[in-house]
Amino acid sequence: MINQESDIDNQFLNRSLTTGECIFTEGDKGDFAYIIEEGEVEISTVTPENKRLILNVLKSGDMFGELALVDGSARSASAYAKTNVILTVVTGEQVKSRIESADPILKLLLMVVMNYFRSETGRLRAKSEPDFSSLDKTKKEYQEKIFHAIELIRLESDLRNGFKREELVPFYQAIVDLNTNSIVGFEVLLRWFSPTRGNVSPSIFIPLAESTSLIIPMGEWLLDQALSAIEQVKKETGIDIFLSINIAEKQIQSQEFLTVMKQKIDLSSVKPKQIKLEILERSLFEGEKALSLVQECREFGLPLVIDDFGTGYANLSYLKNFQFDTLKIDQCFVKDLENNVKDQIICKTLIDLSHGLEMTAVAEGIENQQQCKILSSLGCNYGQGYLFSPPVPLDRAIELMNTSITLT
Ligand code: C2E
Ligand code: CA
Ligand code: CA
Repeated sequence: MINQESDIDNQFLNRSLTTGECIFTEGDKGDFAYIIEEGEVEISTVTPENKRLILNVLKSGDMFGELALVDGSARSASAYAKTNVILTVVTGEQVKSRIESADPILKLLLMVVMNYFRSETGRLRAKSEPDFSSLDKTKKEYQEKIFHAIELIRLESDLRNGFKREELVPFYQAIVDLNTNSIVGFEVLLRWFSPTRGNVSPSIFIPLAESTSLIIPMGEWLLDQALSAIEQVKKETGIDIFLSINIAEKQIQSQEFLTVMKQKIDLSSVKPKQIKLEILERSLFEGEKALSLVQECREFGLPLVIDDFGTGYANLSYLKNFQFDTLKIDQCFVKDLENNVKDQIICKTLIDLSHGLEMTAVAEGIENQQQCKILSSLGCNYGQGYLFSPPVPLDRAIELMNTSITLT
């Protein structure tokens, strides 16, 4: 018998087995769950009379092995490849981190459902004459939810693999000084070019990375990329630019975040003021941790940008108690600026507020000259948007710096 789970050296890759191979046996410690991509898997147990009893035959799209993964108990049945199979491996980490952070009521419900499945398996084992009807009914009820969860897990596995295989690429979107019309920095925006899924939007994969721990190594990698990009720009153009990087809530909450950040910056030739941290207004609502982080960043010299300002709760007490460097006006106020007087009033108020509190103002989503002129006349310091450039790869960003931007 070829065993087994310990053989999985690259745990995020697919596992291929041939007919008859054992995936796991009853009593094993369960470290992985599996999604069947191709082929059939037989789930079986041994009756008190020592007879092998087939409990179920699973097909492509089904998941199995998840019960032991969730509560750490031993496998309650064995799994064999009924045909040649290809499996996506789901790691304990992927499931456990979610369960740990889940709502306590959800955890309880999960335990109830799991116990139900286990007792059904026990009953079948005792009866020797399998009756799948009740199991099938329960399964159908959960099928839709399971299907959705499976899709999400597949996407997450692809993302983890993609990250390892360097499918993620930082793009750079110019931030222009509206007084001089020159590029002074860039916002770093991640792109994922998946060979199977195509260009996946960050609004899909960032929240997914954030719902697991993946955002932490991803954020560290991105900082490395940003630091070397600043050094490369300096080498090729002689100009010291700043880069704005987006910081997810999970990163703010992590203990090591700022320590790692400081170490990496200290080891480079980049000054702390060249890395701006964009934090969503709503992330600041996570209490003490976020607020002490704001303080520590200030002490180290890292500028902070409140991103998407005005779309959250616009809690002005944060502006009163903490010094931010920049306030970023969300694109929803810019999109229709030239036609909408209310947007003009909101932008003017936000710009005045920024200046009154010794912050600079940057407007994002500028798509035409009219919007740019209005913002400039209102005193907005910086602008960002398709009018100047979409997010582009680093070499293109450097080319942009060499071509001056002219606005009429
Ligand atoms: P965001 O920080 O608000 O980024 C601005 C988004 O507006 C970007 O979308 C950008 O491509 C888009 N944009 C820029 N100029 C224009 C314009 O003129 N018109 C319009 N309609 N859109 C414009 P993108 O790149 O799809 O990013 C979406 C979000 O994903 C970002 O929103 C940010 O919250 C998140 N994100 C991207 N990269 C990272 C990252 O490395 N880390 C984290 N934590 N989040 C990231
Ligand atoms: Ca941003
Ligand atoms: Ca934004």
